[in-house]
Amino acid sequence: MFSYLTKRLHLLCLGLLWSTSSANADVQIIYLTPDSKLETEAKQAIVDSDVNLLLVELSKQHFPFKNKLTVRYGGNEGPLYDPQEHTMLMPYSFYNEALQYFKQNQYEEKFGRSAQLGAIDTILHTLLHEAGHAYIEDQSIPILGKEEDAVDNFAAVIMLEYVEDGDNAAISAADMFAFESQDRPEYYQADEYIGEHSFDLQRYFSTLCLIFGSDPQKHNELLNEIDKDLLEERKENCISQYQTISHNWHIYLKNKDNTYF
Ligand SMILES: [Zn+2]
Repeated sequence: MFSYLTKRLHLLCLGLLWSTSSANADVQIIYLTPDSKLETEAKQAIVDSDVNLLLVELSKQHFPFKNKLTVRYGGNEGPLYDPQEHTMLMPYSFYNEALQYFKQNQYEEKFGRSAQLGAIDTILHTLLHEAGHAYIEDQSIPILGKEEDAVDNFAAVIMLEYVEDGDNAAISAADMFAFESQDRPEYYQADEYIGEHSFDLQRYFSTLCLIFGSDPQKHNELLNEIDKDLLEERKENCISQYQTISHNWHIYLKNKDNTYF
């Protein structure tokens, strides 16, 4: 079974496994038929990982939806959240792309975390990112700034506070942004500066900043690639950034007392 699940969560999930497909569930998972052998393998890896059980349980505990959210795997569109249908679209190819990035970058050899786990970490972060969009829509949460950044923060806070080994999973998800950034040209086109997402490398550092800020002792080395002259200032900033973002998301999350601090 998947390593993210805490023992407590694991037991809960076993009990809830079938009730999650009941009419009252907050989140329903649909798998479209895979189109190829690669997609079949991706589907199997996703099913085996229990990442969807984790999403369903996290939603029940911390971000329950008024209207049932559908997560649909397969097809070519996404990853995205469609507010009209209140549906998240997650193509199988996204898992395969992530897996390729982690393999090409010798993730296991360099960081001791398998490429397969890195790809599932990325799926989890992306599911939570899209669930963040869905929760904002479902709960009419006001967003003052870039929604894309807000839901990256949502994903990080949930992973750091409620998922066992969630800090390492969030590091993998951040690394995926760095891998994607390596494929980019050195300069962005002018129209990309007005895009809805922050640039991949910004998303990488923003995620690392929150991970560091959530536990500066444990993650003391995490920001060391930043210039020495700036490092201490950035570290201080990341600690307060994490506290502010976590506090503000907890205004809208349920069971807000159940945190690590
Ligand atoms: Zn988004």
